[in-house]
Amino acid sequence: MSTDSNVPGRWVEENHDDQYRFGFRVTKELFSGQSDFQKVEVVETAGHGKMLLNDGLVMVSERDEFVYHDMMAHVPLFTHPDPKRVLVIGGGDGGTAREVLRHPYVEHCRMVEIDDMVVESCRQHIPLTSSVFDHPKLQLDIADGVKFLAETDEKYDVILIDSTDPIGPAAPLFGTDFYKNVYRALTDEGIVVAQAENGFYEQEAQVALVKIVSELFPICRLYNYSNLTYPGGLWSFLLSSKKFHPVKDFVPDRVTSSGLDFKYYNEDIHRASFAQPSFIRKAVAPYLKDGAQ
Ligand code: SAM
Repeated sequence: MSTDSNVPGRWVEENHDDQYRFGFRVTKELFSGQSDFQKVEVVETAGHGKMLLNDGLVMVSERDEFVYHDMMAHVPLFTHPDPKRVLVIGGGDGGTAREVLRHPYVEHCRMVEIDDMVVESCRQHIPLTSSVFDHPKLQLDIADGVKFLAETDEKYDVILIDSTDPIGPAAPLFGTDFYKNVYRALTDEGIVVAQAENGFYEQEAQVALVKIVSELFPICRLYNYSNLTYPGGLWSFLLSSKKFHPVKDFVPDRVTSSGLDFKYYNEDIHRASFAQPSFIRKAVAPYLKDGAQ
């Protein structure tokens, strides 16, 4: 952490490969602890509300969490015609599960987060996302998502891998064995969405994930969103589907007639988010079975 002499208080800074640094001014320290997996901090910031950081990397801020959680949850849930059972791996702040459970037809959402310290610090300091922890349809487990998927015989319509970057306990969440277990845990019409890094600073990791997952699923598509608090701003999710295409099979009326109101997501954003800049499209095209679009 560094302190900018021009402004009172400290700044939390995210250093990216020692080539790029960005920061947020802290106005109040809310929590800091070292779990078995990572350093966990929650701070109040001058311009982005409360913020969760794991090992110094921004996970969630009150100011822009709606973007990430809208796009992780609503794109697959409006692609699948009748999602009832949803599994979230990671997602310790609660924002993804919160958006999932806004869909009245979802009957059960199971959330498997490895780090209890993330859950408890968010429960105490970031009610905006953690209020979902008391939802009657939510089952919250503190466990390793890799082990859970390897051992479960439950079936899900949608699985959301809301993980940290491919380091530490999250590294296996980007591997072939894990996705073979995801495939097995999905129903015949199942859809999985994963946090898929970004084409600017992590294109190698992004392409590696597409390469692995497209070997297992007939339909595999990156889709983008813009995040204020992640390096470079343009970030992606990877949607992989056993049956339904996220654009060709998408029915916009399902969104407009859902009665749900969103801050970021809508039926136009749903379709537009799958349009890729050429440098990303060219990088992943060789691995997509049915061409780049
Ligand atoms: N939106 C954030 C992002 O894009 O980086 C991620 C949200 S959430 C805070 C990520 C969570 O994944 C963390 O709380 C971390 O503890 C959890 N996680 C990492 N590896 C995991 C694993 N193997 N099983 C379950 N949860 C895991």
